Amino acid sequence: MSTTLRFKMVEEAFNRKAIAVETPDKRPDEYYGELVFNRQKMFQYLPKETYDALIDAIENKKPITRQVADSVAIGMRRWALDNGARHYTHWFAPLTGGTAEKHDAFIEHDGKEGVIEEFSGKLLAQQEPDASSFPSGGIRNTFEARGYSAWDISSPAFILDRTLCIPTIFISYTGESLDYKTPLLRALNAVDKAATAVARYFDPEVKHVTSFLGWEQEYFLVDESLYNARPDLVMTGRTLMGHESAKNQQLEDHYFGSIPSRVEAFMLDLEIRGHRLGIPVKTRHNEVAPNQFELAPIYEETNLANDHNLLVMSVMSEVARKHNFRVLLHEKPFAGVNGSGKHNNWSLGTDRGAMLFAPGRTPLDNLQFLTFVVNVMAAVHRHNALLKASIMSATNAHRLGANEAPPAIISIFTGSQLADILNRLEHSEVADIPDLKKKAGYSIGLAQIPEILLDNTDRNRTSPFAFTGNRFEFRAVGSSANNASAMLVLNAAVAEQLADFKVKVDARLEKGETLTDALLAEIRVLIKQSKPIHFDGNGYSDEWKEEAARRGLDCETSAPVIFDAYLSPSSVEMFTKTGVLSKPELEARNEVKWEMYTKKIQIEARVLGDLAINHIIPVATRYQSMLVDNVVKLREVFGDRAAEMAQCDLDTIESIAQRMTTIKTTVADMVEARKKANAIENEREKAVAYHDNVAPAMEKIRYNIDKLELMVDNEIWPLPKYRELLFIR
Ligand code: ADP
Ligand code: MG
Repeated sequence: MSTTLRFKMVEEAFNRKAIAVETPDKRPDEYYGELVFNRQKMFQYLPKETYDALIDAIENKKPITRQVADSVAIGMRRWALDNGARHYTHWFAPLTGGTAEKHDAFIEHDGKEGVIEEFSGKLLAQQEPDASSFPSGGIRNTFEARGYSAWDISSPAFILDRTLCIPTIFISYTGESLDYKTPLLRALNAVDKAATAVARYFDPEVKHVTSFLGWEQEYFLVDESLYNARPDLVMTGRTLMGHESAKNQQLEDHYFGSIPSRVEAFMLDLEIRGHRLGIPVKTRHNEVAPNQFELAPIYEETNLANDHNLLVMSVMSEVARKHNFRVLLHEKPFAGVNGSGKHNNWSLGTDRGAMLFAPGRTPLDNLQFLTFVVNVMAAVHRHNALLKASIMSATNAHRLGANEAPPAIISIFTGSQLADILNRLEHSEVADIPDLKKKAGYSIGLAQIPEILLDNTDRNRTSPFAFTGNRFEFRAVGSSANNASAMLVLNAAVAEQLADFKVKVDARLEKGETLTDALLAEIRVLIKQSKPIHFDGNGYSDEWKEEAARRGLDCETSAPVIFDAYLSPSSVEMFTKTGVLSKPELEARNEVKWEMYTKKIQIEARVLGDLAINHIIPVATRYQSMLVDNVVKLREVFGDRAAEMAQCDLDTIESIAQRMTTIKTTVADMVEARKKANAIENEREKAVAYHDNVAPAMEKIRYNIDKLELMVDNEIWPLPKYRELLFIR
């Protein structure tokens, strides 16, 4: 790119005005969900028996018959056509991340050289997309190439871009999951079963426990002209070079600051689109870094919430384009400023309206609260390495352990009030507990522990997993991730833990202990056992890293090695016991993870090599030769007197030469390291080689390019700089 082009792009971005948003002439409650085949539409478009059968299947997690599927298909097609859709697609989340669609028109041959509109129950319920080009970690023979997508009736169909989208799971011919939704649904069933059994100690009427997720999506916006002028952003989603801007976030003037009008228009447009799609988006604000923002909906059932997040991520990109922006979902698009995460607010609630992580008014409620909270702590402790693996990726690795993000160590923040209660409970005697059936008024009645009135303003932003009053907030999840990865591990781990807890409590009950005694005794065991996971201090500090290692928490930082946790005996046992993933599935999925890791680093390394050799070095050379010219001219004009005058130029010439040499040799080393790594057959070993040998070379190249940026004439620097990329006017 010529520099005149850089300045043209900067000017274009600078002069851009907000795009007017077409606001519907209806109130939000009137257009909310209008593009969703929700219960209201089902009732309207389906025969009564079909409607009843479908709702029964959704609520009681039962399969539907072929007959019902056929009848639903007819109604769904009619609704879709009435609303402008002409195509339909099975919509699923393959292991590559993001979502996949294959569109088909609603037509079939009519046998008379024409077509009829056609969409049967079979097409609704099941499809065979050519799955050969989706990664399967070897589960599915590529020439077999058969994978099935099957309708997930618990997530309603919707219309996007005049296409009826049917949320589906994606499985292999032999039934192994090739996506995120399948194991997520299995984990949600497992936690429902295990948590229901425990919740019945407190309320025998409980039939189901639902897992809830409220995600907070962070993202960056960049003007489209500037984005297009940065091949690294276009191809990798992050800047592979760029010196820090003199001003970035040090003044902390962006967080909750006023939103620029162009961004405000984008947000409004996105919110309207979201509401029409039945996504309850609610909160929007600036984030800490310049050009960084956040979007959060009201929490929903976890599977639905996750579909909505996937949908929002794709709609966001589309709406951003309309407003001449590009949305960056990468976890660390810019060095030196905050990265983006996706906080997963998570809770469990019964069909009787009890929120299981919320303290209540009565001692019994509070015993329930402590039971569930302590079991979560135990599960997170038991599987801390696995939970870290669940949020790890080539992109999130840049954010974790950076100064603004959780460290690559999982711990739980409880806040001082809960910490105090746990502490007192641990050391109290069972005999101290008064009769729990007696309403204890404002006192919890448990071993002199006062009523639990938790203050959720007690926040610790440095914790990867925090208790926030009535829910847990898993903050280590990456902004570009599919939440299902973290949610399936968390829900499955908690399911396993609750099932174990139930066995132990039941054994005590059989021996004649009272329920209270039995619960408290087991709660005490868990508090003691899971102590190492509890950390309320500063997660960014170096002392914590040492302390965490002493406590036996997983401190591994290399992403490909972190993935090993999926295959550890305790993980395999947990996944098998809960029925969430089999060992072959886990092995296959890890193959995909390692392969994806390698490919991401490989692409970045190629792009950086190209930018270094073909964009930066030529410009640095040009500037260097301008300086050489100047030195020669100084000597011509001033003769001996030039020595001192030329010194400054000579120093710069030398520094540039040194940087360029380092860049050139490091690029050559990096290419060599890549060649060696590419020759490795084993996917894990290959990914480790990319992590250990290729990634560090990239750091070194970048460091030297960023130094050159400070030396070379601004007029000829080819790529938009951080100060230009990061400040929307
Ligand atoms: P903050 O940024 O202070 O953490 P936000 O208001 O941005 O809070 O986001 C909080 C998120 O947590 C929202 O999506 C909200 O719906 C969700 N949330 C609130 N209560 C629960 C709950 N009990 N279970 C799951 N999510 C919840
Ligand atoms: Mg939050």
